[in-house]
Amino acid sequence: MDSDILVSGIRAATTTQGATGYLTIDLAALGRNYCKLVSMLAPARAGAVVKADAYGLGAERVARALYNKGCRHFFVAQFVEAVRLRPAIAGDAQIFVLNGLQPGNEIACAEMGVVPVLNSLAQWRQWSAAARMLKRCLPAVLQFDTGMSRLGFPEQERAELAAALRDGSNIEILFIMSHLASADDAGSEQNGEQFAEMSRIADEFPGFDISFANSGGVFLGDAYHGVLARPGIALYGGAPNGGEENPMEPVVSLDVAVVQTRTVPSGAKVGYGGAHVAQREMRLATIAAGYADGLPRCLSDRGAVYFKGVRLPIVGRVSMDSITVDISGLPEGTLTFGSLVEVLGSHQTLEDIARDADTIAYEILTGLGDRYDRQYR
Ligand SMILES: *Cc1c(COP(=O)(O)O)cnc(C)c1O
Repeated sequence: MDSDILVSGIRAATTTQGATGYLTIDLAALGRNYCKLVSMLAPARAGAVVKADAYGLGAERVARALYNKGCRHFFVAQFVEAVRLRPAIAGDAQIFVLNGLQPGNEIACAEMGVVPVLNSLAQWRQWSAAARMLKRCLPAVLQFDTGMSRLGFPEQERAELAAALRDGSNIEILFIMSHLASADDAGSEQNGEQFAEMSRIADEFPGFDISFANSGGVFLGDAYHGVLARPGIALYGGAPNGGEENPMEPVVSLDVAVVQTRTVPSGAKVGYGGAHVAQREMRLATIAAGYADGLPRCLSDRGAVYFKGVRLPIVGRVSMDSITVDISGLPEGTLTFGSLVEVLGSHQTLEDIARDADTIAYEILTGLGDRYDRQYR
């Protein structure tokens, strides 16, 4: 790779693969975030949610790094993700499919040793039928809806499920779980409501281990920890606890190349729709990443990038493949064709850009796209 070639003291803008942006994923920081959660959770354990390609950071690399830190429970959302991940991690790591199985995937799932999270009686019956066919007991996790109305056994199905369990079944339940809807807001009443509902469920289904907390849940205190937490965003450096200072270390940085610079007179229109009109003479730089690379279009005239600590506001609309930024605040000639600007890094966090884009860190991370040169450190 020629990524270390220096152009006027700046890392070369293109790699041998031809990328014009560098997404750096700090696996050591990921590991430290995991260890921080582990120590907060003990004696409960920390699994890892690696759905959506580990929030866009690469499920295989992330899962292997976390395995090396002792993680043995990996959660994906869809069976297809488990199929991809299974060969990449050691056999003593378990993979759980949070959405459960679609009809037709049961035998493949059983044969791969992947564990479905069963969310309904329909999924329970499917899995039980697969167990009968294979003439063995199959492992599963049961998810209960405690007030999010998204996934999990609804209250109306609990009596029938309890009866099925009493009658004995060919499904081995590894643990029961539920998911918090407002865990990032420690002050939300919904946390207590869901906790109370989970306690009722634990009484109705006694004797099972409980998994309850996502990243935010880890920070709600021991009562929410159960025996196994399922953090996602906190591992990847996102803030697990809303307004407060982010206790996690950043994992991702993103530097993108300048493709062109220019000076425009007052009155010049900038970008699609002429949506921005220069109010004075300005120096502009066009940067090689746009909404197809995960910079949401609503950053138009709102967000910024940084160069040597100087904020460079986005001017005009975000294009598919580029943004234009105001570099008038920099001494002339400091930023040129080929320079790299910081989109995510020490001056702009994931949370900063998410706020400017009116969204959450999760959406920024999972949207980052595949045109960047990904470098794992
Ligand atoms: C996505 C997800 C998680 C992880 O949530 P974070 O907020 O990223 O920690 C945990 N559990 C379930 C069921 C999920 O869908």
